Amino acid sequence: MKRWQRALQDNYGTPTIELVSGKGSIVKDANGNSYLDFLAGIATNVLGHAHPAIVKAVSKQVTTLGHVSNFYAHPNVLDLAERLQKMTGDKSARVFFCNSGAEANEAALKLSRKTGKNKIVATKESFHGRTMGALSLTGQPSKRDPFKPLLKGITHVTFGDAKAMKRAISKKTAMVIIEPIMGEAGVIVPPSDYLKKVREYCDAAGVLLVFDCVQTGMGRTGDWFGYEYSGVKPDVITLAKGLGGGLPLGAMIAMGPASELFVAGDHGSTFGGNPIATAAALAVITSIEKEKLLTHVDQMGEFLLTELALIPGVSEVRGAGLLIGLTFEQPIAKAVTKRCQELGLLINAPGDSVIRIAPALNITIKQAEKCVKIFTQAVGENFNV
Ligand SMILES: *Cc1c(COP(=O)(O)O)cnc(C)c1O
Repeated sequence: MKRWQRALQDNYGTPTIELVSGKGSIVKDANGNSYLDFLAGIATNVLGHAHPAIVKAVSKQVTTLGHVSNFYAHPNVLDLAERLQKMTGDKSARVFFCNSGAEANEAALKLSRKTGKNKIVATKESFHGRTMGALSLTGQPSKRDPFKPLLKGITHVTFGDAKAMKRAISKKTAMVIIEPIMGEAGVIVPPSDYLKKVREYCDAAGVLLVFDCVQTGMGRTGDWFGYEYSGVKPDVITLAKGLGGGLPLGAMIAMGPASELFVAGDHGSTFGGNPIATAAALAVITSIEKEKLLTHVDQMGEFLLTELALIPGVSEVRGAGLLIGLTFEQPIAKAVTKRCQELGLLINAPGDSVIRIAPALNITIKQAEKCVKIFTQAVGENFNV
């Protein structure tokens, strides 16, 4: 902890444990303690740690061709763009690669400027990243306020409120950006017809609809993309987190007329589409298919949702697939998280009364049971009856 404080900036606070190795959903710290990892690098290590397919793909690539820039094509960037295009079910889909979620949303923001309009609608409490453009889209005052002035022309409306969205959209609106399920806000699921209505309003006013699937994409919810439950399609999808299976990779996928807005010279990223990161992403997609993980995610999610709801003190359990939010009647989330860590379970508290659980997609039923057991004990010790 002292070394961290002396050499790293204080923006994260100081971590209490140092992780040194991992296999699947088990990680070990520098003192030799083991933990069940049900946060997975913040919804990122979709195949867990040291998955053989990722290890093999990345090792092979790093000894073959490490980096080339976008002045040149390479097999992985072509293969991955085609795989993502296929996953959208839309032949017009075109991919831009970057290195993070914030960058994917920055790319969407710049793309929207190419419509010739500049007004944007986003939602309150949303999270779209920390760079100045992405932060301007983000709807959390605590993260925004220290960095004002932010971008102008962005309106934030209540998430899930279709009427408020309708009022905020005009012919001057370039884009609407929404998380299909809000992750950082505490896993908030909107009313079932919300995305469909937003799609209608966007169509009526000629507005680009962007679904930020950075957290809900890549199988996390039991679908490839977190919006699929809604039956509507966006014009733009942003991805990162799970895409690289632990390596830094983001993508902004545009479909239909939006796919032709960027022309040569409009945007770029030196590392975007890097051969090693794209090798990892190809291994992620292939393994999710081969191991039938989308169905597995539904089953494990169902189990956790049911079991966690039975714990005394838990007031609500919500989410989709293996993105689960859980609220308490009392503000004990930080204490419960701390106790879980002591008992060997890593989870996270995005708020004082909210817990987020987002493990690897390939967790076993035994690991899910162990999570429930440790969690039940930690809640029991902290909840005042
Ligand atoms: C994490 C997240 C981001 C930001 O991703 P970074 O890789 O940290 O820049 C953006 N949008 C959503 C929905 C996220 O969950």
